[in-house]
Amino acid sequence: MSEVKIPYGRQCIEQEDIDAVTEVLQSNFLTQGPAVRSFESALAKAFNVDHVSVLNNATSALFVVYKALGLGPGDLLWTVPNTFVATSNAALVLGADVDFVDINLETFCLCVEDLEKKLVTARANDRVPKIVVPVHFGGQPCNLTRIHELSKEYGFSVVEDASHAVGATYGDQAIGNCSLSAAAVFSFHPVKIITTGEGGAIATNNSDLHTKITQLISHGITRDESLFESEKGLPWKYEQIDISLNFRMPDILAALGESQLGRLEANISRRREIARTYQAAFEGLPIGLQCAENMAESSWHLFVIQAKDKSERLKLFKYLRDRGIMVNVHYIPVHHQPHYKKLNMKFAECAKSVEYYDRAISLPMYHSLTEADLQTVINAVKNFYS
Ligand SMILES: *Cc1c(COP(=O)(O)O)cnc(C)c1O
Repeated sequence: MSEVKIPYGRQCIEQEDIDAVTEVLQSNFLTQGPAVRSFESALAKAFNVDHVSVLNNATSALFVVYKALGLGPGDLLWTVPNTFVATSNAALVLGADVDFVDINLETFCLCVEDLEKKLVTARANDRVPKIVVPVHFGGQPCNLTRIHELSKEYGFSVVEDASHAVGATYGDQAIGNCSLSAAAVFSFHPVKIITTGEGGAIATNNSDLHTKITQLISHGITRDESLFESEKGLPWKYEQIDISLNFRMPDILAALGESQLGRLEANISRRREIARTYQAAFEGLPIGLQCAENMAESSWHLFVIQAKDKSERLKLFKYLRDRGIMVNVHYIPVHHQPHYKKLNMKFAECAKSVEYYDRAISLPMYHSLTEADLQTVINAVKNFYS
C-alpha cells in the first residue's frame, strides 16, 4: 500500500474564502441576510440568466423545481440511469413515476435518438413525461438543442441536472443560461466544481416559476402582498400559500460560494488542461474516453475512462487504489438500485448505461491537482497496460 493518497475530487479553499466566511460570522446575519442575495446575483451574472435561487443542496433544488413545475402523483419524469440517485429520487418523493432513457456510449450523456424513440411510443400510449432531466455528466453538456426541439414537439419541460456543470458552456452560452430549458440545477458539494460545503442552486428565466421556487425554498410562504389570499396591509404579515419545508442556504455558506465563484475561470481552465493532458497521455492505450457534443465544452467535474470490460475495470480499479490513487466509479445505474427494483414500476433496460458502468473508472480531477500527482496517475495507468 502506498503512503500518498490522491483523491478523485476535492475542494480548493483559499485564504480569501476563509476571510469571506469570517466576515459573515462577524456580521448581523448568519442566514436570510445580504450574502445570500449577493451570491444569487453573482451566479445569475455568471450564467447570464434572469433568476437564480440558492438552497441547502442540489437534492432539495431538484425537489423544489420539480414541485414548482407541478410534478406529483400520476405524473411521469424521465432521466438517465447514469446519474446520482437524487435526480430521480426527488420525483419519487413527490409521488411521481420515473423511467429512464439510455445514454450515448460516446458522450456518456442522454442519447437523443433513444429519447425520440421512447417519446414516439409514449405518445402512442398516452404516457408522455411531464419533465425530462438531462444530466450534464462529468460537466459534459448534453445535446440541449435536440432535447429542446423534442420538448416543444411533445410538450414536456426540460430541467437540466447541471450539478457537475458550473462553468461548462454550450454554444456561446454558459450552462445555466436556460435558453433551452425551464431550469437548471447546480450542486456545491465539496467534490463538485465550486463548493459551499453543502449547497445548490436553481437557475431559470421564467419569473412565475422563480416566484414558486422562492416560496418552496421556505415552507411555501410568501411575503409578497400581491399574492396574499386574505387580509392585506398588516406590516408583520406573511401567508403560507403552499406546502414545503425549509431548504434555505445560510449566509455563511453563500459567502463561501461567492468567493469560490470568483476563481471559477482559473478552476475550469486548470480542469481543461488536466483533461487535455490525460487525453494526450492515453492516446494509443486500449481505453475509451468521453467525447463532447457539438458546440459543447465540459467543465470537467469528472474524468472517466472506460476499460475493456468488467473484469479489466475491477483489476485496474484495485491496481490504482493499491497505489494510493483513490479512483471511483460514476454511476451505478440508478434503476439497478435495490430500492428501485422494489418499486412497482417498469423501467427501460438501458443496456448502454449498464455497459458503460461495467467499464467506468473516474480518475482524479480537481483544480488543485498538482503536476506531480497528475503524472503519478498517468504513469500508473500506463504501467497497468504495459
Ligand atoms: C451531486 C449530485 C446531485 C446532488 O447534489 P447534492 O448537492 O449533494 O444534493 C444531484 N445530481 C447529480 C448528477 C449529482 O452529481
